[in-house]
Amino acid sequence: MPMQGSCLCGGVRFEIAEPFITVSHCHCTNCKRISGGVGTTSGRTRTESIKILEGEDLLRPYTPDEGSAKTFCSVCGSNLFGGGWPETELCSVRLTAIDSGFDGKPEAHIFVRSVAPWETLPEDGLPRYDVRAT
Ligand SMILES: [Zn+2]
Ligand SMILES: [Zn+2]
Repeated sequence: MPMQGSCLCGGVRFEIAEPFITVSHCHCTNCKRISGGVGTTSGRTRTESIKILEGEDLLRPYTPDEGSAKTFCSVCGSNLFGGGWPETELCSVRLTAIDSGFDGKPEAHIFVRSVAPWETLPEDGLPRYDVRAT
């Protein structure tokens, strides 16, 4: 069964045909800014496995000076995809957008070099990487 996802306003709906390759919490400064919190939690998948069911015209990408494109719903601002979607072979899907079909858990904390002074990393036993897992 594919995973189902949507944005906050419901204008964008999508599905993902394949299980995630990896799932991680990213604490980088870009993810903090776009999330309004400690960062994003995303699954990596093949870009081809994502199918936009509704609201393709609502999607807006933004590419920061340093980092890959992130894509938002232009109505509600939800961050849906990262990692260069839809131009790259692999991309990221924000777990906050997943409605059903995913029962896994994040496997790592990445970009912990960018943990904020006001942020406390949880003692969840997951590996932590300064940048990415190698
Ligand atoms: Zn929306
Ligand atoms: Zn990040």
